[in-house]
Amino acid sequence: MAVASLEVRALSVGYGPVRALREVSVDVPDGAIVAVLGGNGAGKSTLLRAISRTLAFQRGHATSGSIRFEGRPIDGLSPARVVAAGVVQVPEGRQVFARMTVADNLRAGALGARGGRGETAAALARVHELFPVLADRARQRAGLLSGGEQQMLALGRALMARPRLLLLDEPSLGLAPLMAARIAETVQEINASGTSVLLVEQNAAIALRLASTAYVLEVGEVALEGPAERLAASDEVRRRYLGVV
Ligand code: ATP
Repeated sequence: MAVASLEVRALSVGYGPVRALREVSVDVPDGAIVAVLGGNGAGKSTLLRAISRTLAFQRGHATSGSIRFEGRPIDGLSPARVVAAGVVQVPEGRQVFARMTVADNLRAGALGARGGRGETAAALARVHELFPVLADRARQRAGLLSGGEQQMLALGRALMARPRLLLLDEPSLGLAPLMAARIAETVQEINASGTSVLLVEQNAAIALRLASTAYVLEVGEVALEGPAERLAASDEVRRRYLGVV
């Protein structure tokens, strides 16, 4: 049995009277890519926000359940402490700081991380190695980048905090297929250098190719879970999420 990176147990979340998640349990083994699939409103973003503790900004709150990272509870921490613990979210829609330069966006990503200048410089070198365009455009305003480049910047900004677990919310959303494939390759590369990944995607084909394990959320509940290969072969997943009739 692989060492657990993340363990979400029986998590229920509400936004006032709206129940967004019901008794959801998800595991990310250390070093794995785990995918969460599901249609609009299934609760995917809510799950990531509950883990990163940014849920409160949406007026959401967990009503029960627990979240542990590397064996320690993280569900009582502030969002900044979750980052410092090694769990970093890339939000849906990138949310880069449009008026700031690319370089300043990346610097902002390092603010919450532990470690000194040497570590930050090494993280920046790694980000530039993964995304040379971010070095070329360092002084440009982030708002001037293309959608794909902004997704690279959002990923790069998260990497500046040197995460051991990345939470990715729909990284391929709105991107042309080639760019989506490029982002997927980079996620694999990031994972290969030791970062676990919890990937939320509407693009099930990409997610199931990257992940070792996947969960399907339907109206706030885990409807299916298992090895990604098995889910990719299941009639229900093929019909509902892969567009195969
Ligand atoms: P999408 O892909 O459309 O973002 P999702 O699977 O990420 O969908 P969530 O955004 O987690 O789904 O939403 C789950 C449920 O919670 C939906 O019914 C949604 O309407 C509701 N919800 C999400 N955010 C809020 C909020 N701030 N206030 C009230 N209800 C919310």
